[in-house]
Amino acid sequence: MALPEKIHLEIVTPEKQLFSGEVDSVTVPSTTGYLGILPGHAPLLAELGIGEIAYRIGDRTEYSFCSWGFVEVLPDRVVLLAQEAEMASDIDIKRAEESKMRAEKMLSSKDSNIDFDRAQLALIRAISRLNAVKHRTAKH
Ligand code: ATP
Repeated sequence: MALPEKIHLEIVTPEKQLFSGEVDSVTVPSTTGYLGILPGHAPLLAELGIGEIAYRIGDRTEYSFCSWGFVEVLPDRVVLLAQEAEMASDIDIKRAEESKMRAEKMLSSKDSNIDFDRAQLALIRAISRLNAVKHRTAKH
């Protein structure tokens, strides 16, 4: 059987469908590292961590943020079920910067009531959102 030339990509959250369409490749943040997927990839199911989704359509690459979920890979189809996801163009930069500052302040505090794991995850979310915006801006 011939290898598929494109991937049908779906990005969905419990609230919305972010994207549905044909792409040439996609990179997703699994909990064990970034997965680069081309058409014809072997089937697999993986957990999504916090990071950036990047997909290429011709010479255009789009970026989005996601946090936790699952990715199902088939040779001609990739479905991302994310707990949270936003296209880079929808990210509120000021909100992410404030969230980053808040998390950094908590992490540098000596207060024993602070939940450091929680602050660490908030920091990773904020940095990943800002990176998605930065990558998008660098390309446009
Ligand atoms: P914050 O500290 O600003 O609340 P957070 O990382 O704790 O950030 P989440 O729990 O990941 O926020 O998300 C809560 C909701 O707010 C989700 O629906 C998410 O899509 C949205 N959201 C969070 N930050 C941003 C942002 N910078 N731009 C756009 N939407 C955002």
